Amino acid sequence: MPPGSIINQAAWDLFNYNRTGILASSSSRTNVFIRTKFQPVNDSRPDIQVIIGTPNGTSLWTLAYLLQPNSRGRVILASRDPTDAPIVQMNYFSDPASHDVNTLMEGIRRVNQIFSTAPMHNSGFHSFSNLSDDIEFKNYLYGNKSSTANSNSGDHFTGTCKMGIDSMAVVDPRLRVRGIVGLRVIDASIMPFITSGNTQAPVYMIGEKGAQMILDDNNSTGTSAASSLHRSYNFSIVIIFYLVFYISTLIKQH
Ligand SMILES: Cc1cc2nc3c(=O)[nH]c(=O)nc-3n(C[C@H](O)[C@H](O)[C@H](O)COP(=O)(O)OP(=O)(O)OC[C@H]3O[C@@H](n4cnc5c(N)ncnc54)[C@H](O)[C@@H]3O)c2cc1C
Repeated sequence: MPPGSIINQAAWDLFNYNRTGILASSSSRTNVFIRTKFQPVNDSRPDIQVIIGTPNGTSLWTLAYLLQPNSRGRVILASRDPTDAPIVQMNYFSDPASHDVNTLMEGIRRVNQIFSTAPMHNSGFHSFSNLSDDIEFKNYLYGNKSSTANSNSGDHFTGTCKMGIDSMAVVDPRLRVRGIVGLRVIDASIMPFITSGNTQAPVYMIGEKGAQMILDDNNSTGTSAASSLHRSYNFSIVIIFYLVFYISTLIKQH
């Protein structure tokens, strides 16, 4: 335990006995969602997420996430052998209009603003004063001869089997793989667009919704089988009734 850390014996005791306190919480307790000037006017979603966390109670780390990147990656089959790993091309910052890098730089500027406020400054935190212009920002993100890259993925991979009705859609709106009977995809890959935040909770929702779709479709198949059985049963009764009527008419005539 570093000296002065808030993760001290009292914090351990609190967690051990009550399951409360700093150790019962996530290391990234603060999330800030920002809508930058790069987001279209008619789009109310945030496009930057800033996460501020404390790994040990004495320091802070912060990340700026790009929430709706325009760059698109690709997953390509390496061969016809299903056991071969596919080729995954991330293509980060590849959008021709540089929307992604500009938005992310705006996010980092906002982080700088937060760390430049008096309460943060008075607590001993400082902004990245060396990142004063766009070239320095880009070098900071991509890295160059004198610095390493400071950008990474948020591990929120989505959309490789997107749901939809267009020619690029892998699954239909009921998550059935188009062109294959009896196969569904129910995970993060079906998102047509990435959500504006962490993906785990949306994946739980997709799982719940997909399970319900399977149940509903099975029930409706069962119902339609039952109703066709019911129809043929009714039809048999009509035929038997008709035969009985016909035979009794014949008997009466004789
Ligand atoms: C390092 C990391 C940190 C993350 N942190 C967060 C976070 O803090 N908050 C958040 O909201 N999201 C976070 N995410 C994202 C989140 O975990 C994913 O969006 C989510 O788990 C995706 O769910 P999924 O069901 O699509 O895929 P997965 O959770 O990856 O599930 C796929 C499953 O398929 C199994 N599998 C793979 N191949 C085969 C095979 N051939 N046969 C059988 N099984 C197979 C895998 O073992 C795995 O269990 C993080 C992701 C990573 C990688």
